Amino acid sequence: MDEQALLYVNEGSRQFAGSKRHNSKFAVMGIPMDITSSYRPGSRFAPGAIREAAGFIEFYSVRTGVDMSEFGFDDVGDVILHPSDVEINLRRIKDAASFVYRKGKFLISIGGEHTITTGVVSALNPEDTCVLSFDAHLDLRDEYMNYKYDHACVMRRLSEMGFKIMEVGNRGISKEEIEYANKAGIPFITSHQVKLLGPREVSRKILTHFSGCRNVYISLDMDSIDPAYAPGVATPEPEGLDPSTVLDIIDLIIDKRTVGFDVVEVSPPFDHSGITAVLGAKMILEVAAAIKSKSP
Ligand code: MN
Ligand code: MN
Repeated sequence: MDEQALLYVNEGSRQFAGSKRHNSKFAVMGIPMDITSSYRPGSRFAPGAIREAAGFIEFYSVRTGVDMSEFGFDDVGDVILHPSDVEINLRRIKDAASFVYRKGKFLISIGGEHTITTGVVSALNPEDTCVLSFDAHLDLRDEYMNYKYDHACVMRRLSEMGFKIMEVGNRGISKEEIEYANKAGIPFITSHQVKLLGPREVSRKILTHFSGCRNVYISLDMDSIDPAYAPGVATPEPEGLDPSTVLDIIDLIIDKRTVGFDVVEVSPPFDHSGITAVLGAKMILEVAAAIKSKSP
């Protein structure tokens, strides 16, 4: 750790399935920021809950044939955050993410509210980086209650920074967001359309839109998944995707260009059976296995 990152990262936090392998290509970082959640707060507890759940699932990926227990994860700890200042936190998150990227690692971030993605992605170059967001919501609002760094504005801020965006699984959308998406050239495939098209056609559309990108970042707002599978989220929205469809799409689009992944918006106080945390851990495991299978 260099001094800058040491200042912001608490290495004493729990580790992903107890995994602390410095030589692993996969860095896991907890970002327990939960300041702008409008409905069901508690995502600050998700890094701990997902890391713990990861200790109780198999590390062998049947989908890819990759045994992640051979490679493990380098859990770098939690970003130390200011209790109320979102903009200071976004700078800290950006610094910590830059540090991990400079080491050549694949960064897996565990939120926290979706706003953390603004910080993690801003460490990448907007000129050649595309962002795929799975989300019930478009998060394209210019502001929410007069605040621009709300969790409802994440993709709007990244789009304004110059990142090329595409969104999947959406169904809780405002008219203002559709107008911005059309104006800014941000395609989105609603959850209903995903069901009609199927994972192959959806992934084909994503790969076409991202054909000019050198880096691809994937953000998974867990409310993209149906509340039947992921009840413990901050803003649940009915008629969502099923987890297998999300993994099928991810498997089909992951390639050597994929540089980072995050799981956000899990709210453990509302995850009464703990299944949302287990699903979050499973998603991380399968994404890492898919990366490994595409670029061994
Ligand atoms: Mn979101
Ligand atoms: Mn959402």
